[in-house]
Order: sequence, then structure tokens, then C-alpha cells
Amino acid sequence: MERKPSVVGLTVYVTNYEASVLLAKAIKRVAPHVIVVFGRPTPSVQATNILQNIEEVDRHIKDYLDKFPSPYLSGILPVTNNAGVLTARGCNQNCTYCNCAVLSSRSILTHSVDRVIDELEYISQAGMPPNEEIQIFDDAFTHHF
Ligand code: SF4
Repeated sequence: MERKPSVVGLTVYVTNYEASVLLAKAIKRVAPHVIVVFGRPTPSVQATNILQNIEEVDRHIKDYLDKFPSPYLSGILPVTNNAGVLTARGCNQNCTYCNCAVLSSRSILTHSVDRVIDELEYISQAGMPPNEEIQIFDDAFTHHF
């Protein structure tokens, strides 16, 4: 907590679940404004249970998309005026006029925070003109995890 983070992410397995919950409670006790995120195996299959019963956990992350290489970081895609990033793919809503939820089986997969930051830094340092906006291409960026 020395670094005064705004978000703390924990990798949560069955084996460290109890310790993770205790840590989340301790974090919230000393810094209630910090967003606590549980990620990886246990939250992937017990998200609803965790979010409903552990009030100190604000978000869960089901799985990462990072297994797919970044088109920018791998040098495939040049940075242009309309460069942008995906922080997640898919949508779990069900708007009748949109096929996104059907195509993603109503699931959302995310990139890690590190991957998104790496891409943003790369784009900003790779010739993105000043005052240009970096676009967010997510299907449902405002979804509340
Ligand atoms: S992407 Fe947007 S419009 Fe489409 S289902 Fe999700 S919330 Fe609805």
C-alpha cells in the first residue's frame, strides 16, 4: 500500500482463496477507495458467489485474452491516426438489435492490465500525432465487471 494503488489485483486459486479474502478485507480496511479485483481460476467459475458474498471484492476477471499476440507489440499493425486498443471482447447483455452477445456466447474475456498499458505506451510512443485520441474498440467497454 506504500505505492498508494487505485486497483489491487489478486490471482486467486482454491489454495489461496481464504488468504485472498483476508487480504481483500485488510486492503479495504486501510484503503476503502481501492478497487479489489479477483482473477484467474477460482473467480472464473465462482464469480457470482464471490461477488455476492465477499463485499470487499469489487470485480472479478474470468480469463485473459493475452494468449493472442498484440498486433502492435508484435509489429504486424502500424500505428496510425485511428489506432486503438481492445481491453476486452464480447458482451453479456442481450440487446435484440445486436449480435455481439450471441457471437461471444454472452461472455466477456479481458486482456490483462499490463497488456493494455503496454499497448497504450507503444502507441503513444510510436508516432501517434499529438492530440489524437486512442480509440477503445471493446464491444462493451462500460460493462461493470
Ligand atoms: S454490445 Fe452493446 S448493443 Fe450489443 S448486446 Fe452488448 S450492450 Fe447490447
